Amino acid sequence: MAIRDILVFPHPNLRKKAAPVETFDEALRTLVADMFETMYDAPGIGLAATQIDVHQRVIVIDVSEDKSEPMVFINPELLEQDGMNTHEEGCLSVPGFYETVERPEKIRVKAFDEHGKEFELETDGLLATCVQHEIDHLNGKVFVDYVSALKRDRIRKKLEKQQRKAG
Ligand code: ZN
Repeated sequence: MAIRDILVFPHPNLRKKAAPVETFDEALRTLVADMFETMYDAPGIGLAATQIDVHQRVIVIDVSEDKSEPMVFINPELLEQDGMNTHEEGCLSVPGFYETVERPEKIRVKAFDEHGKEFELETDGLLATCVQHEIDHLNGKVFVDYVSALKRDRIRKKLEKQQRKAG
């Protein structure tokens, strides 16, 4: 297993649309293991493959307090969305910034696990927010797209400045 580098907004590759996974092989399971290691190390509660510059439709999530509920969503598809609610969101690709985002409160999602087994899940609250946030990444969308252009621009400038200092 290995910890991978996480792309930071406004990296252009965060805008790439990820392709569906077609083969459920060892390479995929290594990717999933690396994604969990990277997410737990960060630490974060969700990570999309897009964020480590792998453009396949793979998401890992663990919203538990003690890293006890790892969940894998491959080729996820939202079947139903219901209600609206706001949650404060953050993102490992937008370090240090938290913004209120409005999204559907309840979702039903269909996906495959890392062995190619299909499952469906109905959920709400933090997990529903997280699944939608990560699916956005697979479609080239970042949560700051939901805030005002002015705010987004301010975040972009601050992160660019930090990157220059770090690099
Ligand atoms: Zn994110």
